[in-house]
Amino acid sequence: MEQLEIASENADPDSKIFGLTGGIGSGKTTVAKIIENMGFPVYYSDGRAKELVNESQFLKSKITQLLGEESYDKQGVYNRKFVSTIVFDNPEKLQALNAIIHPAVKSDFQNWLQKNADKEFVFKETALLFELDLDKACYKSVLVTAEDNSRIKRVMDRDSKTYREVQSIMAKQMPEKDKIKRADFVIYNNGTLEELQTEVEKTIKEITTI
Ligand code: ATP
Repeated sequence: MEQLEIASENADPDSKIFGLTGGIGSGKTTVAKIIENMGFPVYYSDGRAKELVNESQFLKSKITQLLGEESYDKQGVYNRKFVSTIVFDNPEKLQALNAIIHPAVKSDFQNWLQKNADKEFVFKETALLFELDLDKACYKSVLVTAEDNSRIKRVMDRDSKTYREVQSIMAKQMPEKDKIKRADFVIYNNGTLEELQTEVEKTIKEITTI
């Protein structure tokens, strides 16, 4: 809670921050790219986290301390597969890992926000927007959602994961109906990419006129 209060205090009051989220395979990154192509600044929290674990010596040493030397390969590159395997069934380690990574992303976001302080609308793509209560530090939230089966098929194609693997990740995430209730805007991604583009444009129109 304390961290979130700091985040809102630091946030530039002139920029309206829209938290963009969605479960695995919902299409949130695809939507984020569409929004970026429309000219809005987008901060990719999960993408930045992936970069920061490689860029930051501080994170490297903290993660190695927590999970061991194997967390990075011989070239010093983050070993995502190893780390995921360890934390997937170990909530305590996952929490400890998050306690290392989340503050780093938070301060990286604040720097980004400063650089975009002149923009009226900015978007922050975050998988765990609601789970971590990060929507409270945003002006409004936007959820991307889709039928379970479409999501599973899309992730199977993208990541060559099995049906069961994707299902088990989905089962650990916040139920879709709870996210829909909590979101200020919902984008349904059950059709083609062209249809998604239209849906996003509609939502952006609503957003920019509120
Ligand atoms: P994750 O949380 O797993 O990173 P995500 O919510 O960011 O997922 P995307 O990566 O945007 O989801 O989409 C998942 C996959 O589905 C991608 O390969 C994307 O190209 C594809 N995809 C998204 N929407 C559609 C659509 N409407 N039609 C076809 N493919 C789609």
